Amino acid sequence: MSAIYSLDALRFDNSFYNELPADPVVNNNSRHVNAACYSKVSPIPFPKAKLIAFSREMAIELGLNPMECMTQRFTEVFSGTLPLEGMQPFAACYGGHQFGNWAGQLGDGRAINLGEVINKKGQRWALQLKGSGPTPYSRHADGFAVLRSSIREFLCSEAMHYLRVPTSRALSLLSTGTLVERDMFYNGQSRMEPGAVVCRAAPSFIRFGNFELFTSRNQTDITKQLADYTIKHFFPHLGKPSKEVYIQWFNEICLSTARLITEWMRVGFVHGVMNTDNMSILGLTIDYGPYGWLEDYDPYWTPNTTDASGRRYAYAKQPEIAQWNLLQLANAIYPLIKDAQALENALGNYKKVYDIAWRDMMSSKLGLHNFNPASDEQLFQDLVRNLKNTETDMTLFFRHLSELEINRNATTDQLLSIIQPAFYETEIDAVACEDIKTWLLKYVDRLKVDNRPDKVRRHQMNAVNPLYVLRNYLAQEAIEQAEAGSYTMIHELQEVLKNPYHQQVGKERFAQKRPDWAKHKAGSSMLSCSS
Ligand code: AMP
Ligand code: MG
Repeated sequence: MSAIYSLDALRFDNSFYNELPADPVVNNNSRHVNAACYSKVSPIPFPKAKLIAFSREMAIELGLNPMECMTQRFTEVFSGTLPLEGMQPFAACYGGHQFGNWAGQLGDGRAINLGEVINKKGQRWALQLKGSGPTPYSRHADGFAVLRSSIREFLCSEAMHYLRVPTSRALSLLSTGTLVERDMFYNGQSRMEPGAVVCRAAPSFIRFGNFELFTSRNQTDITKQLADYTIKHFFPHLGKPSKEVYIQWFNEICLSTARLITEWMRVGFVHGVMNTDNMSILGLTIDYGPYGWLEDYDPYWTPNTTDASGRRYAYAKQPEIAQWNLLQLANAIYPLIKDAQALENALGNYKKVYDIAWRDMMSSKLGLHNFNPASDEQLFQDLVRNLKNTETDMTLFFRHLSELEINRNATTDQLLSIIQPAFYETEIDAVACEDIKTWLLKYVDRLKVDNRPDKVRRHQMNAVNPLYVLRNYLAQEAIEQAEAGSYTMIHELQEVLKNPYHQQVGKERFAQKRPDWAKHKAGSSMLSCSS
């Protein structure tokens, strides 16, 4: 194995650790941490840890030979058992608004940052272990993670990357060889579950909540330090911090967040816990918890059982919640800017940019050459109504729709039969059926205006409408098999999800609608934060 691609050749530059204020107290008791961006902690060693899966591509990105990931040393390092030279583990201090309410100090309660690798391209990758034991931010919890949620984070973050959705990545998934007690639905029925550790990676894990915490404590000098640090490393094109630079910075955060949410909406992803502590300052999807994928197109579906009554984090609410979260960030950085109008303008701009991005995204999903306001706004609204009225699988609907041929003069029944495989019910209500037929006719007329070859349109549509997503029930099946000792399905899903837009021979089963058994099954349609 070439020494230049070995674990020991990883080059660390721990900027967060070296440039921001540290907590002077060193103990792992849950406590209030004052005036510090992080606390020094050590991961709990797991001598019985075993590798379950790793991302070859992420290893290469870091500058590691993938063979290195199969060594015992890799397992020791990424289970937190034997840190590498140059790692300086810490847990970050942040706060956040949870379900709309200020929650005060939260922090990395079960995540431990190992260090920041600078790869051969000069890119920064912060590596973080999730599930490595308690930190001062663990509050009443244990700092560990269970296998089921670790599998979900590992598979989904890599899948999102291949879907071209901005996201944190995952390097490895390891079983810890220990058991963790969990009460999955907070109903007093706990069970012992296998523990696991995921190593995840992102240029930075800074959240809106990092800024909120210091401003809430009137420590705006730290808010400023953190903002200057963030701009220096992740927005260097903005130059030396000033009022104008902070405004521009906030504008950019609004834009990247708008893009992020548009991408979630495109692929049917529902984050499930869009608290401000789970919002990345870099516009990445972070903190995969009780997320889910839209199966039947229900705009008010939320995968999170804790959110079932309010549906605050339902699919269709995500754009507006992101704006609300941006408002909390605006409040947090206001002391650096003291210009409410400028921040309000940026927030208004978020909405405008999002609306345009959504429109363009829908146009591309439908294979339109360009958005035409005169016809397309209505076309989109009618489509959303139809998808809602008939239980329709979102992913399959768009894939099948691309098969339509515009010059075939197909009857409405023939048009309907093209998208029929996306319906969950065999019998469709007569009124809904007429509505969707009318829509299909209008859609064909609209495509005739563009008058592009079917092949070209199909190609455009299939490049933005994935065929394979991490369907909730598939993740659950992989989890059940893993808990029974087999990791084959994890590996198979990992491979299939690397090519989500291309039909893969022999992989049909991963593109199928949710089976009936999965409709109301825990883990498939109902998830909790208990992970
Ligand atoms: P989440 O909504 O999952 O991002 O978590 C919210 C907060 O709870 C964060 O501060 C987490 O670090 C903390 N937390 C969640 N689960 C655990 C756990 N098992 N041990 C310690 N802290 C946890
Ligand atoms: Mg979180």
